[in-house]
Amino acid sequence: MDPKLGYSGFSLLKHAVTGNRRWPDFLAEPEMRASYDIVIIGGGGHGLATAHYLAANHGVTNVAVVEGGWIGGGNTARNTTIVRSDYLLNASFQLKHFALKLWSDLTQDLNFNVMYEPRGYVDLAHSDGELEHFTLRANAMRMRGAEASILTGQEVQHRVPELDLSGRKRFPVAGALVQEAGGVVRHDAVAWGFARSAAASGIHVFQNCPATGIDVKSGRIVAVNTPKGRIACKQALISVAGSSSAVAQMAGIDLPLSTINVQALVTEPVKPALDAVVNYNAGLSYVSQTSKGEFVLGGATDGYASYARRGSFERIEDVLARAVQMFPFLSRLRLMRHWSGSADIPMDGNAMLGRTQVDGLMINAGWGYAGFKATPAVGWCMAELLATGKIPDLVAPFTLERFAQGAEHDDAGIGPYPWLQ
Ligand SMILES: Cc1cc2nc3c(=O)[nH]c(=O)nc-3n(C[C@H](O)[C@H](O)[C@H](O)COP(=O)(O)OP(=O)(O)OC[C@H]3O[C@@H](n4cnc5c(N)ncnc54)[C@H](O)[C@@H]3O)c2cc1C
Repeated sequence: MDPKLGYSGFSLLKHAVTGNRRWPDFLAEPEMRASYDIVIIGGGGHGLATAHYLAANHGVTNVAVVEGGWIGGGNTARNTTIVRSDYLLNASFQLKHFALKLWSDLTQDLNFNVMYEPRGYVDLAHSDGELEHFTLRANAMRMRGAEASILTGQEVQHRVPELDLSGRKRFPVAGALVQEAGGVVRHDAVAWGFARSAAASGIHVFQNCPATGIDVKSGRIVAVNTPKGRIACKQALISVAGSSSAVAQMAGIDLPLSTINVQALVTEPVKPALDAVVNYNAGLSYVSQTSKGEFVLGGATDGYASYARRGSFERIEDVLARAVQMFPFLSRLRLMRHWSGSADIPMDGNAMLGRTQVDGLMINAGWGYAGFKATPAVGWCMAELLATGKIPDLVAPFTLERFAQGAEHDDAGIGPYPWLQ
């Protein structure tokens, strides 16, 4: 890494002495070349992580990342920052668990504080049947070498004393599945940390530079068009989250997914009151407190296909009603902001990773509102695919072919109803 971009004690001292006026640009705009070996379309966490690992793991740096907006303007910095790997199906678990391992060292790897905080992810069960299903999940996790625990009524109260477990609730709490290694990571730091590292390795990152067309010749990708010029390339990766179907169609590819609004909300900041991430399963509402003191809340999708980045009031009311059931003190806080992101949700609710029917064109899509936690693992695996041409074992169950083969990967058991995922 370029030592000028480092944040060592020495460099902080040196720049302090010169009045902090000589810091280099965080992300300088490079001169665009006519061709690159690889073009990554989408400068969100996933695309930038792919760029970082291409350089760090494979020494591949003749790469351009073209981002339609600004770094951290997409879902990466719109999400509720939760990371965990408490999945039942093996393939889902393995990918997210590998990501958890990468999260724990990422601050050191990037020399950039991404603030991974393993505060514990507490998933509440509201009936004995649900708790039994959670026990199955916890056992599956333990058999694969992960830590997980099942808590019953009073143990949940002990783990999260702020929870209101009085029997007056519409949905009483029967217990919880807890993954202590789950928690939160500072989302925009992730995007910027990966961008900075990729740029320092010589990869070109262009902001305000959307892909407007993909040129395919004899079934092979040959170029990506942008307002800043046509970029010839040998390979490209589509990594654009909510815009996946629109960008894939530029290459004539129809993806089996819907783009649906998902919202998040944040309250005014108060003193630290909650040290875990808590999920209320009866209807979905989850809460954590940021280091600044705000409570971040999220819930299910708005339930209809849309590219708009504003949400319905119905969902806000729904999320808040459940959050207040858990933590009645939240009713005294003011809501500061709410926003939404465009979630790309496939028919089985799981990601699509790997090759497309166009030679040299790869896809990373379908993460919906669950892909932040996988960011470093996705980057690691997509970099491996682009650099070696081999499908990594961790992504093999998620290839596009699974839809043609009837090998869907439905973690939630909801079937082909993306608005319910
Ligand atoms: C409200 C909300 C809450 C969520 N909460 C969680 C959570 O707690 N935990 C979790 O694991 N996941 C969560 N997610 C999901 C998670 O945010 C996404 O799955 C993940 O961030 C996807 O990463 P990405 O890099 O693919 O997406 P993005 O960050 O959206 O990156 C894609 C980029 O592509 C760019 N782009 C689009 N079109 C073009 C084009 N034509 N050319 C070039 N660039 C283009 C966009 O501008 C964008 O920056 C949540 C999502 C939302 C919306």
